[in-house]
Amino acid sequence: MNEQITTKELWEAVLAEMEVSISEATFVTWFKGTSAKEVQGEKLVIMVPNVFARDWLENKFRKKIIASIQKHLPQINSISCEIGEMPSEPKEIIKETFPKENRKRQKQSGQQSDYVVNKNLSTLPNNLNERYSFDNFVVGSHNELAFAACKAVANEPGKNYNPIFVYGGVGLGKTHLLQATSNAILANNPSSKARYISMERFANELLDALENKKAKEFKNRYIQMDILAFDDVQFLAGKEKTQEEFFHIFESLYQAGKQLLLSSDRPAKSIPTLEDRLRSRFEGGMIADVNKPDLETRMAIINTKLKERNFSLDLEIVNYLAENIYHNIRELEGALNKIIVNYQLRNTQPVLTEIIDMTQDMLSMNRQKDLTPKRIINSVAEFYDVKPEEISSRSRNKKVVKPRQVSIYLLRNEIDLSFPEIGKIVGGRDHSTAIYAFEKISEEITTNDILRNQLKFIRDKFIDY
Ligand code: ADP
Ligand code: MG
Repeated sequence: MNEQITTKELWEAVLAEMEVSISEATFVTWFKGTSAKEVQGEKLVIMVPNVFARDWLENKFRKKIIASIQKHLPQINSISCEIGEMPSEPKEIIKETFPKENRKRQKQSGQQSDYVVNKNLSTLPNNLNERYSFDNFVVGSHNELAFAACKAVANEPGKNYNPIFVYGGVGLGKTHLLQATSNAILANNPSSKARYISMERFANELLDALENKKAKEFKNRYIQMDILAFDDVQFLAGKEKTQEEFFHIFESLYQAGKQLLLSSDRPAKSIPTLEDRLRSRFEGGMIADVNKPDLETRMAIINTKLKERNFSLDLEIVNYLAENIYHNIRELEGALNKIIVNYQLRNTQPVLTEIIDMTQDMLSMNRQKDLTPKRIINSVAEFYDVKPEEISSRSRNKKVVKPRQVSIYLLRNEIDLSFPEIGKIVGGRDHSTAIYAFEKISEEITTNDILRNQLKFIRDKFIDY
C-alpha cells in the first residue's frame, strides 16, 4: 500500500473522478489548467487559470471537490483557489496523517475512487457515467456507422465486432459512444464487470504498478473484466512498455471472448510507433469513424441539449450557433453552457446580438484565424509525441527530424512564412535547411499515403487544438 500521496497525484485523482461525473464540456471549461498547489492544514490550495474558474470551483463545485479529496486525504475540509500557473511539477509529498483504521473505513465508504489510496482493491470501479447513453446521442450521417456498430456490440457483446475501434477528431462523440455502449451492455448484463479508462490513465496506473512491483496484480485485475473500454488509445504512441503490457491484457481478454472497445483520434495506422501486432489487433474487428456533423445535425444536437437542460433559445439563435460553430460538438456544447449559465443568473431571455457578443471567441472562423507558428508546432509535437521545444531547438535527435520537417512544411503552407523566418523558428537554422525540408515533404506526400493522412490529421488539429 502506498503510504504517501503527492499533491499532484491527489489532484489527478480528483480530476479523474470529476471527469466522469460531469459533462466533458463543463469539465474542460472549469477544470482545464487547474492544479493543486499545496495542503495548508485542513485546506487544499488549488491553482486556477482565471477568476471564473475560481468562482466556479469555490462555489459550485466546492462540495463535490472536497468529497472527492476526502477519499484520499480525509483531513481536508476546505479548498481555496489562487489564480496563476504552477511554476513546475509539485514535488511536495503529503504524509498520510490519518490512522490506518480510518483509511480502511474510508475505503469501504468511498464508492468510485480506488485510484490513489485504495490501490489494493480487487475490483476496479467501472468509471461509467450514466449521462452518456444511446438515447441522448444524436445520429447523423457523420456518425451513423459508428452508432450502428456500437449498438450491435451492445446487443451481442464479445460476438461480432471485437474489438470495436472508433476513431475521429476531438469532441465528436467517441467517449460518448464508448461510455454509452458500456452502459448499455451493463444494463442488459448487470453482473458483468465493466471498466472504462482513458489510455493515459491506464498508462499512469501501469507505471505506478510497475514501480511498486505490482504489475501482476494490476494485470490480473484487468483480465477479470468482461467489458473494457480504452479511450484515446493514440496515447500509446511512443510508449513501448505500455504497449507491451497492454498487448498481453488485450490478448487475454480477446481470447476469452470479452468485449473490447477502443477509441482513437486517428486511424490505427497513423499512430506513430504503434507495434504491428497491436495495429493488426486494432484493425481486426470493426472500425468506424466519426466525422464532423453537418448543419442540420448541429441544429438537432443543439435542440437536444437545450431540452436536456430545460432551456430554450429562439430559432434564430439556434441557427446562428449551428452555422458558426462547426468544428466539433464539444465546442457547441461549451457555447450552450456559457449561454445557459449566463442567462440563468440574469433571469432574462437571450437576444441574438448578445449571443453574438458572448460567443465571439468560440466561433470556428475566429479560431482558424489565430493560427500561429506556436500552434502549428504544438500540434505537430503532440501528434508525434515529442516536445515542442525539441522541434524548435538545435537538437539533432533522430526522432525530431520528421516532426521538424513537417512543421517547416506546415509553417510555409498554412501561414506563408518566409524560409528565413521558418529557419529561425526551428532552432535558428539556415533558410536552405527550411527549403530542403519543405521540398522533401512536398515531394513525399505525392507518393506516401500515410504521411498525407498524417498531415491532414495534424491540420485538423490546429482548429481543434
Ligand atoms: P470525443 O471523445 O470524441 O472527444 P465526446 O464524446 O467527449 O468527444 O463528446 C463531446 C461532447 O459532445 C460530449 O459532451 C458528448 O456528450 C457530446 N456529443 C458528442 N456527440 C454527440 C451526439 N451525436 N449527440 C449528442 N451529444 C454528443
Ligand atoms: Mg474523448
